[in-house]
Amino acid sequence: MSLKEDRSLAGAVRHAGMPCRLCNAPVRHTFVDLGMSPLCESFLARGELDQMEPYYPLHVMICEHCLLVQLKEYVKPDHIFTEYAYFSSYSTSWVAHAKSYVEMIVARRQLGADSLAVELASNDGYLLQHFLPLGVPVLGVEPAANVAKVATGKGVTTRVAFFGRQLARELIAEGKAADVIIGNNVLAQVPDLNDFVGGMKILLKPDGIVTLEFPHLVCLMDECQFDTIYHEHFSYFSGLTIDEMARRHGLALVDVERLSTHGGSLRVYLAHAESGQTPSPAVGALLAQEERLGLRDMGTYGGFAEAVKRTKRDLLAFLIEAKRAGKKVCAYGAPGKGNTLLNYCGIGADFLDFTVDRNPYKHGRFTPGMHVPILPVEAIDAARPDFILILPWNLKREITAQMAHVASWGAKFVVPIPTVSVIDPKEARA
Ligand SMILES: [Zn+2]
Repeated sequence: MSLKEDRSLAGAVRHAGMPCRLCNAPVRHTFVDLGMSPLCESFLARGELDQMEPYYPLHVMICEHCLLVQLKEYVKPDHIFTEYAYFSSYSTSWVAHAKSYVEMIVARRQLGADSLAVELASNDGYLLQHFLPLGVPVLGVEPAANVAKVATGKGVTTRVAFFGRQLARELIAEGKAADVIIGNNVLAQVPDLNDFVGGMKILLKPDGIVTLEFPHLVCLMDECQFDTIYHEHFSYFSGLTIDEMARRHGLALVDVERLSTHGGSLRVYLAHAESGQTPSPAVGALLAQEERLGLRDMGTYGGFAEAVKRTKRDLLAFLIEAKRAGKKVCAYGAPGKGNTLLNYCGIGADFLDFTVDRNPYKHGRFTPGMHVPILPVEAIDAARPDFILILPWNLKREITAQMAHVASWGAKFVVPIPTVSVIDPKEARA
């Protein structure tokens, strides 16, 4: 028996009987085991620092039947999402991405005053707001009341609810069938995937379209993006899995685009299977590429787990060397993914003096588990660190451009993923 098989078996023993979130088959193979970690969005107030903190396993499995990479629902989403600290509008590049999507989809689908665009997990209205000047009615569905309130303030009609078949039936009864259903980076966060996709099937008009954006599993593996794994992300998708998911719900994968967002994403277009639409050539090309990469072979996944361990060793080696040389190190950003990285690697206030974030909700709080203090962005100018570890590496261009002035005291940026790399802002500008 090879070592690889042995590891999968160890996972099988611990997770015996876990049914697949999509196809219900028993899930037996380990994708990657990141150990124990606290919830990545549970930022702590100072008064909570000396209290016990819950840790949950981050042991990711893969279903050999439908190829869904998945995390067990260790924590109920109503616990996670009712007060959510993430406001999409704090990322300027993400808002720009949303605006260009809206302009594209309004033109492509010829949407107008009689149409309805529905976004699931509409957050603070960062996307739907762009439909309003174009005269297209919108409806947001958002479970976190605090962010939904911000959307309503922008004129974006928002229903505070979890989406599923029941809500879809209610909306249909109210005459709110959708021409377009948008799900950006929400599919991963849905524990009952079949209820969610079943709801989309109900809500969609006969000639409507669903567009979903999600990080592509192929990019996650190629670029060693293990920090995008956290408890709030229950599922990780390939094109092959999306195709299977669509079929199971009477939908069809009819088009796909590759996006650079979140380290490499897919935007898939789903239509009713009965509409008989011919899939674009891009669909066939994607599925063929994934077949070629060996995504149907469980052995393919072992290399990823090894690459994750190597990244941890390289990042720690860099930080240990920097601290031995007497360098001052801080971080930029306090995203969910940063907390997976910090906890898995064991990087706390012993390495990082602090991190900064543009979201004032997080100021004065501490990162879960590692307890790194979170300060306003200006703290970097006051501290003048030698190295700035960029935790939201998907925004590294935006951040290095915004923070180019740190070159004045010789600071450099460090990006942890896919491999540890140092960016000198002087060279980046040249
Ligand atoms: Zn499955």
